Amino acid sequence: MPRRYGKYGGAYVPETLVPALEELERGFRSLRRDLAFRSELRTLQETWAGRPTPLYHASRLSGEVGGAEIWLKREDLVHGGAHKLNNALGQGLLARRLGKKRIIAETGAGQHGVATAMIGALLGFETVVYMGKVDMERQRPNVERMRLLGTEVREVTQGTQTLKDAINEALRDWISNVETTHYLLGSAVGPHPFPTIVCEFQSVIGREIIAESRRRTGDVPDLAIACVGGGSNAIGTFHPLLPFRTRLVGVEAGGVEGSVGAASLTRGTPGVLHGMMTYLLQDAEGQILPTESIAPGLDYAGVGPEHAALKDSGRVEYTVATDREALSAFHRLARTEGILPALEPCHAIAEAMKRARGMRKDERIVVTLSGRGDKDLEVVAALAHPR
Ligand SMILES: *Cc1c(COP(=O)(O)O)cnc(C)c1O
Repeated sequence: MPRRYGKYGGAYVPETLVPALEELERGFRSLRRDLAFRSELRTLQETWAGRPTPLYHASRLSGEVGGAEIWLKREDLVHGGAHKLNNALGQGLLARRLGKKRIIAETGAGQHGVATAMIGALLGFETVVYMGKVDMERQRPNVERMRLLGTEVREVTQGTQTLKDAINEALRDWISNVETTHYLLGSAVGPHPFPTIVCEFQSVIGREIIAESRRRTGDVPDLAIACVGGGSNAIGTFHPLLPFRTRLVGVEAGGVEGSVGAASLTRGTPGVLHGMMTYLLQDAEGQILPTESIAPGLDYAGVGPEHAALKDSGRVEYTVATDREALSAFHRLARTEGILPALEPCHAIAEAMKRARGMRKDERIVVTLSGRGDKDLEVVAALAHPR
């Protein structure tokens, strides 16, 4: 298991956390090949989470756009409405095998918090989720969902009172409670071994794309596109496809025209945050810049270290879509395919629409539709019908 991806990754943590990270790495190493563990995971993926998810040919959208065929990997149909559960389920089972009684997590928009709360209930953990005060006010329904699932939501009042501060608080809790507690980190970020673990549990997306694509069309897709926040749905899509000829494109949040948005790979520089070396949006002194995006799940100043290495190597191309482009993709998909997507993957759909036009009719693009749009309806409706 790589501790680093090129010069990125690593584990920049206080010494008190080192034993917990080592225990986690050992546990993961032995369980990833353990047949009983894998069969337990597969059964719950199928019977509780709704996997495998369909690979859907969006023929009306493709016809309107012109050029290559656009296909959607329907992670919006996973239980809970997003890909986040793939990782939460895997880590939850891992934590139980490690003998932990308690799980903690950070959440920004609340999507990972809800996924963790669902797993906490399913597996009988005491569950605590850290969430910035500002985010709690913006995302009331998710706070309510977590509470109904039996999770304690702890308000974080430090710093900007958003995701970055919630991660810091969760790390602090973990340091004081490593014996009993697993920190269920929500994206392919943080100190080693988290990026590797999250990649493994999200790679079910890419493996299913390969299998289903071959079954339906006889080959892997020509191009795969995914949105990049911390980078978990994207790495889950890309990692299994790395050895193949498929071109890979990650799309970051461009925000409003002229802003940095949350595009750490496209507009950032290397540095250290949350235990990892990676691309960050930071100023000349290394202070983290404020980020913003219409898609709350993409609103993070860092990115998973494997993406940083894949950018430098050129194997994956990273680009941005603006708030406006994402919103326009939202309406296009809703009206042509009868699907209300989350605003995060709308960034990937916007890029697919741009690229399809320049490709041949017999070429195929797969876009990972990482979640459904119910959580974003208020934002979209307010912009569509301004008062
Ligand atoms: C959280 C979230 C994302 C961004 O997270 P990644 O780790 O980059 O995948 C994307 N889409 C949806 C629907 C999300 O909830």
